[in-house]
Amino acid sequence: MNAEVTNSAPATLDDLPLRPELIGEQPYGAPQLDVPHLLNVNENPYPPGAGIIADAQRAVAAAMGSMNRYPERDARALRGDLAAYLGHGLTADQVWAANGSNEVMLHVMQAFGGPGRTALSFAPSYSMYPEYARDSHTAWTTVDRRDDFTIDVDQATAAISEQRPDVVLIASPNNPTGTATDLATVAEICRVAPGVVVVDEAYHEFARPGTASALELLDQFPRLAVSRTMSKAFAFAGGRLGYLAASPAFVDALRIVRLPYHLSAVTQAVARVALAHADEMLGQVASLRRERDAVAAWLVDHGLQVAESDANFVLFGRFADRHAVWQHLLDRGVLIREVGPEGWLRVSAGTPDDMAAFRHALTEALADPTMGRRYDTTRLEK
Ligand SMILES: *Cc1c(COP(=O)(O)O)cnc(C)c1O
Repeated sequence: MNAEVTNSAPATLDDLPLRPELIGEQPYGAPQLDVPHLLNVNENPYPPGAGIIADAQRAVAAAMGSMNRYPERDARALRGDLAAYLGHGLTADQVWAANGSNEVMLHVMQAFGGPGRTALSFAPSYSMYPEYARDSHTAWTTVDRRDDFTIDVDQATAAISEQRPDVVLIASPNNPTGTATDLATVAEICRVAPGVVVVDEAYHEFARPGTASALELLDQFPRLAVSRTMSKAFAFAGGRLGYLAASPAFVDALRIVRLPYHLSAVTQAVARVALAHADEMLGQVASLRRERDAVAAWLVDHGLQVAESDANFVLFGRFADRHAVWQHLLDRGVLIREVGPEGWLRVSAGTPDDMAAFRHALTEALADPTMGRRYDTTRLEK
């Protein structure tokens, strides 16, 4: 008998004709563990209030009444609400929305990247960017940030002029470093970039007062887009809603590549409820900023290097064995993120109780001569 025909063992990935560039790749994602202090994916630790939950229940029930029909494909009402939230005189046709800004960004890469094209960003940055490039067959390149994680504008414009990338991605405030990029730098990059420029402002609401949004530059640069999300400050990570503001033509390009009916009727209804309660959804942002600044100051006091942050997290280090420190914290119910350049760790701003648990566990780790051993480096200077 033919062994190949009778062999009913389930196929492994090695048996399947996977695209060569995906062989050996792992699905992206930080560990999702059931511990008391979740400080690893920059979520807002405060759930929505009872009034918002009740409104969402009514909205879902109403949507359920026509669940036999496809949802409104262009999500016009939701995009109008998002435009109103952003201000700056924006209208629904200048706003695009999808299932998280991850999907928005994939639409950008599908529309403006692709085979034979290149995307450029500033490292270290968001670890999903190279994955969008891979999945859209776009070549990926980076320019290093300075030691303090800011962008060197001369180096950036030189690299862009030479490499002529089709897509430039600037996370501001940047993940995992928290670094905001000033508008003068963004404008210089827009002036030399031959393709589109996306400023990913996922953490904009956490920025320190006076940090301008790239929304202010949209009128000047027709190939600029500004991406935002409801996942972080807006306390709506589970709702999966990201969005982008740009020219109507830019939005039309994204509409070509989106899947039909990509935003479910439930997503649209619930996101509109959250936006109607924007003040309450954003109500804890000020306290999260205070927790961020307090933990940054505490880390500096304990002799650690800390990257200046305009987001709801702090990157700190550097540890000779960061994994041991991460594990020590996890063993005490505090989950942070092992991310960024070698030796660094990232902690999200949580509730006062979360941060007390973090400080307690890290104090122990620092006192342990094996684990607390740090690289002997001078503090970052801006
Ligand atoms: C968290 C994050 C996002 C948001 O992703 P969603 O898909 O909207 O949840 C986007 N960009 C950066 C840099 C992020 O850190």
